[in-house]
Amino acid sequence: MAEVLAINESEKRLIQSAYRDLLKSMKTDMSTEDKINIRKSYELAVEAHSKQRRKSGEPYILHPIAVAKICADEIGLGPTAIICALLHDVVEDTDVTLEEIRVEFGLRIAKIVDGLTKLDAAYNAESPQAENFRKVLSTLVDDVRVVLIKMADRLHNMRTLGAMPRHKQLKIAAETSYVYAPLAHRLGLHKIKTEYLDLCMKITDPDTYKDIARKLAETKRSREQYIKEFIEPLSEKLDGVGVLYTIVGRPKSIFSIWNKLKNKKVPFEEIYDLFAVRIIVDVPVDQEKLVCWQMYSIVTDVHTPIPERLKDWITTPKSNGYESLHTTVIGPKGRYVEVQIRSQRMDEIAERGFAAHWKYKGVSRHPDIYERWLDSVREILEDPESDAVEFLGDFKSNNLFQEEVFVYTPNGDMRILPKGATALDFAFNIHTDIGYHCKAIKVNNKMVPMGYQLRNGDQVHIITNKNQRPSEDWLKMVVTGKARAKIRSSMKEERRKVGEIGKEGLQRKLNSLKVDFEESVELLVKYYKLTSHADLYYAIATEDISIGDIVKAFEVETFTDGSRHLVEATEPLPVVPVVVEEKPAKIRKQKYTGKPRLLINGEPGEQFDYSFANCCNPVQGDQVFAFLTSNAGLKIHRANCPNAMNLIANYGYRVMKADWVATTNSTFVADLMITGIDDGPGVIERLSRNISSDLGLNIRSFSIEGEGGFFQGKISLLVRNTDQLQMAIRALQNLDHISTVTRVE
Ligand code: MN
Repeated sequence: MAEVLAINESEKRLIQSAYRDLLKSMKTDMSTEDKINIRKSYELAVEAHSKQRRKSGEPYILHPIAVAKICADEIGLGPTAIICALLHDVVEDTDVTLEEIRVEFGLRIAKIVDGLTKLDAAYNAESPQAENFRKVLSTLVDDVRVVLIKMADRLHNMRTLGAMPRHKQLKIAAETSYVYAPLAHRLGLHKIKTEYLDLCMKITDPDTYKDIARKLAETKRSREQYIKEFIEPLSEKLDGVGVLYTIVGRPKSIFSIWNKLKNKKVPFEEIYDLFAVRIIVDVPVDQEKLVCWQMYSIVTDVHTPIPERLKDWITTPKSNGYESLHTTVIGPKGRYVEVQIRSQRMDEIAERGFAAHWKYKGVSRHPDIYERWLDSVREILEDPESDAVEFLGDFKSNNLFQEEVFVYTPNGDMRILPKGATALDFAFNIHTDIGYHCKAIKVNNKMVPMGYQLRNGDQVHIITNKNQRPSEDWLKMVVTGKARAKIRSSMKEERRKVGEIGKEGLQRKLNSLKVDFEESVELLVKYYKLTSHADLYYAIATEDISIGDIVKAFEVETFTDGSRHLVEATEPLPVVPVVVEEKPAKIRKQKYTGKPRLLINGEPGEQFDYSFANCCNPVQGDQVFAFLTSNAGLKIHRANCPNAMNLIANYGYRVMKADWVATTNSTFVADLMITGIDDGPGVIERLSRNISSDLGLNIRSFSIEGEGGFFQGKISLLVRNTDQLQMAIRALQNLDHISTVTRVE
């Protein structure tokens, strides 16, 4: 390692002022002991990191201080967490041991620091993402603060990612959007989630990000003017209510605007809900709901509401604790404006989530939603049947993250299930036994199939039968992790029971041959390439392997000591086929001496067996990375390819850096989606002419469909680089009959 520059005087001052700043953000009244401990942890961290610098060159200690400040300011954590944040990288990166921390600061703090160190280790190792995620969640159920501090750590790293090499940036961004953003959402850390997603986008799609940021800045003045016009007629009436309130209009995040652009397929200029107006009232808890509705009533007196857009998250909060009243009204110039009405307390929970929620524990009228959620996480974690990959799949699809449906038992008790949950999920949600023996289901007094997807307000009645058992098909009819795990374990149990018969048969045969049972079973499991004894018994019971086969394939040999052993017969029979686990292939290198198009990990790309991924069709000039597939060599993907997040997050160790080299004459396929006005026949001809004669580009394929005067077409072009592609997009956009032109992702 290179000689590290000692910290100079001006840096010392910088560090001290960062620390003072941190202390200022600790608003809560701290005990003298807390103050002493924070000071002590600061001094220990300063000393321990004194010989380290960050990639950017600044003293390392500024990072833990910044993380601690995020914990205090943006998550609202207390002194214990601040101490842990200051110490979070000490055990991993310096000579300080966990034991020293335990002696100095006690067991609780040592445990949290240990959790943080382990999380880091999990990520540095090349273990699959699913396993890492499981670790994140087990620390979460131990002490939520570990994950909250990790969130702050990740946020500061994302904010300062500029100094990292590009492929590392991509990996960190993928992991953030794959694991941390959904988790932040689930913990109600709305502000942090939003910033994560913006920062990820800035890395994976820098051009679009800058484009939207620029347009937002350009339209700022007119937007503020509009918000003023919207608020003015309201203020006077709101003042009349006699409660303290604030009203602001705020633009939405770049990421969410981008989502809108993609989903609605409209240009930036046509997105009117770029901002939301928020009214925050300062009233005691018992008046919150009443006053919020009073505000709603005033807003809708002044501006006409759109009734379908009314959402009452106050009466039934979201599962991540979010409470607010939302409505969309028609503002000046006929534009739709979203208005959010909430109390101070609700606002704090909405922005900062978990820790704020903690602060108001027992104040809210609602049961502790986090406890309930943590319980369900715990339940999945404790299930010995769930393996890591399945677990991540369950976790993501099963919507511990997503929205939910509210349904009722016959007694009128409300149950909350994830959106997409089925009637059978409901049965398992009520009780495992009810799930197991579920025979038929009635929803709102009508019989429905077990896979019926629940809707808000459904009343569900489960009819059980004690002879009923889960079957394989049931797995296709549930979405919740609990139901899936229970069905799987019941299937295993069933298999084990069936296997008993096989085991008995085998035992009889082996006894008669006078060979050792355990030893022979080991041998047979290996021979048939099975994974467990249970699998062998089951295969024998179902006659996939018959005792007769075994007798043919093996002979008994008597050793010199007189003991008898099963050995393979000289003429072995064909064995049961096995599924070989997928492993990445070795990169094959070829001799290559031309001019390369790409550098892969800094080496001329042409010596590798690479090809362009056709999920995203990269074009020279796009941000790209190389991915080592298991059987098709290296694939080059665009950094914003919809598959990329998944690949990078799950198989980070197979990702390689790829960069374009100077221009060559190769051409690339680029797909464009075009919409426009269908003014009679000849659209295709006209477009083709524009593209091939006027722009001089080759069309590889073109499909178009029209309806009601509009058309939508997909066109594959051959272009040399992104510049040429951008030119083509702009030229097409300028044609009269075209409304939108977007590159397909
Ligand atoms: Mn760190």
